[in-house]
Amino acid sequence: MLDLTRHPHRRYNPLSREWVLVSPHRTDRPWQGQMEEVIRDVQPEFDPQCYLCPGNARVGGVRNPPYTATFVFENDFAALRPDTPAGKLDEGGLLVAEAEQGIARVVCFSPRHDLTIARMEVDGIRQVVDTWTSQYLELGALPFVNWVQIFENRGAQMGASNPHPHGQIWANRSAPNESRKEGVAQREYHTDHAGCLLCDYLALEIKSGERLICANDSFYALIPFWAIWPFETMLISKRHTTGMDDFKDAERTGLADILKRVTIIYDKLFQVSFPYSMGFHQKPTDGRAHPEWHFHGHFYPPLLRSATIRKFLVGYELLAMPQRDITAESAAQRLRDLAGSA
Ligand SMILES: [Zn+2]
Ligand SMILES: [Zn+2]
Ligand SMILES: [Zn+2]
Repeated sequence: MLDLTRHPHRRYNPLSREWVLVSPHRTDRPWQGQMEEVIRDVQPEFDPQCYLCPGNARVGGVRNPPYTATFVFENDFAALRPDTPAGKLDEGGLLVAEAEQGIARVVCFSPRHDLTIARMEVDGIRQVVDTWTSQYLELGALPFVNWVQIFENRGAQMGASNPHPHGQIWANRSAPNESRKEGVAQREYHTDHAGCLLCDYLALEIKSGERLICANDSFYALIPFWAIWPFETMLISKRHTTGMDDFKDAERTGLADILKRVTIIYDKLFQVSFPYSMGFHQKPTDGRAHPEWHFHGHFYPPLLRSATIRKFLVGYELLAMPQRDITAESAAQRLRDLAGSA
C-alpha cells in the first residue's frame, strides 16, 4: 500500500500539469551544505540612502514625492517598454522571437522604510490591495496589455535589492509561461467538468483539512498538495472570483488580512524576517470574461530547515523534475501550529 508519509512518490499539479517528486524518507539526512547568513534586520523608519523612501532621489535623478500611503512609479530600469516596435523572427520554427510590448511599475507599500507586510496594519495592507486593484484595471485596460502580473520579492535571498516594502507590476501583451499553463488547465477543466478547477480543489482541501494553514471570511491559506518549495503556500478566495476587480469590499480587506496572517506565521517559523517571492494569478485582461479563472496567490519561500538553510533547485530539478523531502502535510502542520500560537 502506498503511504504518502513514507514512500517516494510523485504528485501531480493540475494547474501547471507538471509533477513533483516527493521523498519523505529523506528528511532526517544530515546537512553539510551552505548556511545562509542570518541578517538581523533592523531598519530605520527613513533611510536617506534609499531610492524608495519619500522625498529621495532615484538613480535616474527623479525625486520621489513626499508620499504618505502607497506610491506607484514606472520602473527606472524597466524590463518591458510600451514603445517597443512590433516585429518577428522565425527561421524554420527553430529561431523564433517576437517583440514584446509592456509596462513595468514599482509599488511602494508604505512610506515607512522599516515595515514589511507582516508588520503593517491590515488597514495599510488594504491600501496596497486597493492600489493593486486600480493598477490591474488601469494597465489591463490598455489595448496592448493582456496580462498583469503583480508580485513581490522579499529579502536579499530572493534578489530584492532594497528592504523598503515594495512590489512590482509587469504588464504585457503575451501570456507568460506560468499563466498560460494555468489558463489552459483551468479552461479545459471548466469545459470537461462544467465547474471550476480551484473551487473543486478547495472543496477537497477543506474536507481533508490536512494542508490548511489558516483562513478568514474570504480566503484560505494552504500548502498545495503539489507544492515544490518546502513552505510554499497558496491563497485561494473562498468565493469564485476571477480577479481583484471582482472583489467585494470585504474581500479586499480579507486579502489584506490573510497576507498579514501568512507573513506573520512565516516570520515565526525560523525567527527571521522570512524571504519569499509572492504574487497573484488572475484572469487575463484580453477583454474576455474568463469564468474559468479563479483568483489565487502563490508564496514561494526558499528557506528549508532554518533561517540559514535554504532549498536550491539544482541537478535533478534542473535536468529532470522538482523534488522535495518534507511533505506538504507535515509542512502545513508546522505552519498551522504557528497560526494557533498567534
Ligand atoms: Zn526606504
Ligand atoms: Zn472557482
Ligand atoms: Zn497560479
